[in-house]
This record gives sequence, C-alpha cells and structure tokens, in this order.
Amino acid sequence: MTAVRVVVIGAGIVGAACALEALRDGHHVTLLDPAPPGGEQAASYGNGCWLSTSSVVPMTAPGLWRRVPAWLADPLGPLAIRPSYLPRALPWLWRFLRAGATEARVHAIGAALRPLLVDAPSRHLALATEAGVAHLIRRDGLLYVFPSRQDFLAERLAWEVRRAQGVRWIELDADALRQSEPALDRRYRFGVLVEEGAHCLDPGGYVAALVAYAEAQGARRVTARANGFARDGRRLRAVRADGRDIPCDRAVIAAGAWSKLLARDVGDRIPLETERGYHATIADPGIALRHAIMPSDAPMSNTLMNAGLRLAGQVEFAGLRAAPNWRRAAILRDHALRIYPGLPRDLAAERVTFWMGHRPSLPDGLPCIGPARDCPDVIHAFGHGHIGLASGAITGRLVADLLADRPPVIDPAPYLPARFSPAVSAFAHSGRAGDGAGTRVSGNAR
Ligand SMILES: Cc1cc2nc3c(=O)[nH]c(=O)nc-3n(C[C@H](O)[C@H](O)[C@H](O)COP(=O)(O)OP(=O)(O)OC[C@H]3O[C@@H](n4cnc5c(N)ncnc54)[C@H](O)[C@@H]3O)c2cc1C
Repeated sequence: MTAVRVVVIGAGIVGAACALEALRDGHHVTLLDPAPPGGEQAASYGNGCWLSTSSVVPMTAPGLWRRVPAWLADPLGPLAIRPSYLPRALPWLWRFLRAGATEARVHAIGAALRPLLVDAPSRHLALATEAGVAHLIRRDGLLYVFPSRQDFLAERLAWEVRRAQGVRWIELDADALRQSEPALDRRYRFGVLVEEGAHCLDPGGYVAALVAYAEAQGARRVTARANGFARDGRRLRAVRADGRDIPCDRAVIAAGAWSKLLARDVGDRIPLETERGYHATIADPGIALRHAIMPSDAPMSNTLMNAGLRLAGQVEFAGLRAAPNWRRAAILRDHALRIYPGLPRDLAAERVTFWMGHRPSLPDGLPCIGPARDCPDVIHAFGHGHIGLASGAITGRLVADLLADRPPVIDPAPYLPARFSPAVSAFAHSGRAGDGAGTRVSGNAR
C-alpha cells in the first residue's frame, strides 16, 4: 500500500482511532484539533463510559411521538427542546420519528448497529493495551434494572431487537439482584445482565492516551480548527485550518457534532444535529457497584469510574452554541439519590461536577462513514450519536480500510453519506439498512 499524507480532523475517540489505524498502515498522519484531545469540549470526554454491545436499539421507535408531549411537560423528564430552537430542530425530529416508524425499521437499524458494537469491548481493550492504559477498560458486564419483570416485558421491542442481533443476557430475580447490587433501592426487583458489555474508567483520559500513543508512533498534532478544503477538482490538496493550508492527500472528518459544515464543503448535506447530553459525577460516592447500571425508570447510565459515580443521560435540542441548562444535570443527580439510598443525602456542591456535551446525531441513529460526494479523498467519520465511544474503535479500522481501498472490516453500506441524498433516501426508509444490499464502497472510488 502507498503511504500518503492523511489529516484527521478532530481528536475525540473517533479521530484518535482513525489516526492510530492510519498509522498502522504506514500513512503520515496529522491530527488536527483546536482543543486538547479528549478534553471537556468533546463528547468523548463526558459520556456515560459504556462500551455496550447491546446498544443496538435506536432512540426512535414506533409511536414515540405520542410520548413526547408527556416527556416535555415533565420537569424531571429525559427530553427538552428549547422553544427558540424548535423550528431548526423540527426537520430533524420529523426524520427521526419516520426512521423508527415501524418495527421493521427499528430491527433494520439494530442490524446495522450491531456490527459497530459486537466486538467493541475487545477492540477497545486491544487499543488501550497498545497505548499502555489497559487498566481503563473493565469487562464487568452491563446491568439493566427494573421495578418488576412486567416493566422489562413492557420494553418488548427493544429486547426483541437485541435478541435478534444475538445479544445474550441473564435475568436476575429480586434476590439475585439484591445479592449482586446491594446498593440499589429496594424498589428494583428485576435485572438483566449483559455479561459481554464493558465500560471505560476514564473516557477523556483514554482518548488522551490514544492520541499520545499516536504521537509516539509518529503522528503530528496541530492545534488548529479546520475550516474547509483546498481542492483541484475532485482531488484534495490541503485542509484549511485557521488561515493556513495543511497539504495532504486524504482527510478524515471526525469533528463530531461540528462536522456538518466541513461535510458540506465537500458536497454532502448531512442532517447532523447535536443531541445535547449531560452528566453529573459524584466524587467519593461511598457506594459499591459491581456493574455499570441502567435503571428503566430513570434513563441514564450509572457508572463507577475514576472520578466517582458518573450519571449520564438527558437529550436536549438547543444547538451548538446555547449555554448549558444545569437543571438538566441536577435531574440526573436527584434521580441517583432515589436509586442509591446509600449516597450521602447532603451532597456538597463541590463533590458533584456537572458537564454538558454534544452527541453528534443523525436521525436514523447510524453514523455517517464513507467518501465525500465531491471529493472522495475526504472520508466522513462522524454522527455516532449515543454509541460513539463504543463504536469509535471499529470506525477507525473501517476508515483505514477505506483509505487503503481494501475489503472493509464490515460492510459500510448502511453508514454511507449517500443515504441522505434524495436519489437513495428510499434505501434508508425501506427497512433494508444493514442487510448488505447496498454497494460495497471503495475509498479510492474516484
Ligand atoms: C451525556 C452523553 C452520554 C454518552 N454516553 C455514551 C456511552 O456510554 N457510550 C457510548 O458509546 N457513547 C456515549 N455517548 C456518545 C459518545 O460520547 C459520542 O458519540 C462520541 O464521543 C463522539 O466522538 P467523536 O470523536 O465523533 O466526537 P467528539 O468526542 O465530540 O470529538 C470531536 C472533536 O472534534 C474537535 N473539533 C470540532 N470542530 C473542529 C474543527 N473544525 N477542526 C478540528 N477539530 C474540531 C473537537 O474539539 C473535539 O475534540 C454519550 C454522549 C453524551 C453527550
């Protein structure tokens, strides 16, 4: 394979994994980000830490629209839309609801998500081991908890999708759950343990370690913001960054929620939206958990990690620029006080940190990975929504395969940017996403 100059735009988990995999192929890699790798600006910093093989269920579902008014009216609910942002969010929300309008579509999205996730724990462990931080990856399983088995059965479609995708689990009755997680409130009487799931003890630190390792392997890091591309027709000449050109042969757009304008510069109108999320992290929580936990009645991941008990969730539509609404993070903390009676009742403010970040989300719940329409030298690698930490590792490998023009590690058809162009949008709504019916794509297809 010919070694070329590759600029990776964005040093979150996706950019870091792309850089490492490109280096493995002998390319000359520049990693471009105006902010520190894995820093607080990145979704990769403050997420829920889950490396979940079972997150094959999209956020969208049939009849979801009926539940939206109640969520919006509930001050403790999981969803918020800033009224001033509603007109901008509406087209995305419409596409989002349509993407999951039938059970067949939800199953098709599940089928497309599974290849991104199925071996996420082992892929991350391998990357972390290379970078000397294997201790940050814990393969302890992920535990979903419910007040009763009836509440579990009420999530029928979600668990049917998981079963169809080969996710295996163990059901825990009230006694088994109590023995496994004595810190949980007694109202939880049923649990589902996905043993193959894993979590990361410090996602921001993990990304920083991957980037440091990439630098040690020869990557050049440039602290600047990409603004666009210099081209000769369809061939890439350089990435434009803060008033100067960085000459290169190939580029990867991995700028998370900030990727939309860069994609447009190379011909693709991608309906990328920020689904803003929050975390509250309680330092020294004084409780022990054997697993990372997801309670059915307070949708947020609860993960003991290096900084304490991290509670991550919420979806807020308010764009990239609006100030955080810290009440959304306080909701997560207050849920935790009800879920874990052993938490100190008088949590001092300095013991709890709040954070807001931008999930880079596409309406069909799948990332955008593949060559740009007007300049195939540029590869898109963004839009990983709720599962970007987990799916970042295989995205790096897939992007490297596209750069190398070799058979890809997984079929990229469901993730191609072309699914958003009118001519092929029928594919995205046909219930066939992920069945491999699309074309195989070559990164060098010019
Ligand atoms: C509350 C919350 C909980 C979550 N929980 C989980 C979870 O448990 N498991 C999971 O798998 N996923 C989870 N996610 C999703 C996951 O965090 C994201 O999908 C993932 O981090 C996206 O990674 P990224 O590298 O694409 O983007 P980011 O991590 O956002 O990184 C993008 C980088 O691009 C840089 N950048 C921006 N613009 C430019 C530019 N013009 N030029 C150069 N660089 C630029 C930014 O500075 C940033 O460093 C969660 C997200 C949130 C918000």
